[in-house]
Amino acid sequence: MGAVFEKRAWCRYLCFLGGLSSNYSMSSALELRTDSEICKTCKDPTCYKGTAKVEGCSMFEYPRTMDSNRFCNFCANCIKTCPHDAIKITPRPPTSELWFIKKPRFEDSFLATALIGIVVSQTIVMLEVWEPFMEWFESTTGITNFTIAWTVIFAGAMLIPVLLMLVSSFISTLFPEKIGCRA
Ligand code: SF4
Ligand code: SF4
Repeated sequence: MGAVFEKRAWCRYLCFLGGLSSNYSMSSALELRTDSEICKTCKDPTCYKGTAKVEGCSMFEYPRTMDSNRFCNFCANCIKTCPHDAIKITPRPPTSELWFIKKPRFEDSFLATALIGIVVSQTIVMLEVWEPFMEWFESTTGITNFTIAWTVIFAGAMLIPVLLMLVSSFISTLFPEKIGCRA
């Protein structure tokens, strides 16, 4: 990726851990945002482009238009490069960003819900219920090969929360007026 694309394209677009931290950062108690009044008059967005001494945003973010922590890794380069001191890091109620997402993205929701399945399945492995569960699984499905059984369990554990998300999304579409009022 580094040979073909500029900046941190891998981190932003392909890395699983990048996606993971991106999701977590939306529930952060801190946010980096600009003063829109100052930015309106700015003719040279060095926060994005960088300067001779400090490189621009490696995550392809334009701080002036940022309304989410999603892709910001808090490197603070933009704070160093903004000549007008327009960027601030401020506290906010944790998870508040999640309630006011302007452009929800299916991939974010998919990853967040699939992670629930991954964490639950990994937790079950560490608990005493694992062996009785495997015995029940083998006797119910007839699958005795551990590799195949674990693959099926793992895929199922990720799929169930995703299906629940799709069902709850569908239900929420039945009440658009009420959701619109809250927003
Ligand atoms: S953050 Fe600073 S450099 Fe970026 S657009 Fe605003 S004023 Fe200009
Ligand atoms: S802190 Fe770093 S990653 Fe975040 S917007 Fe500024 S330059 Fe980009």
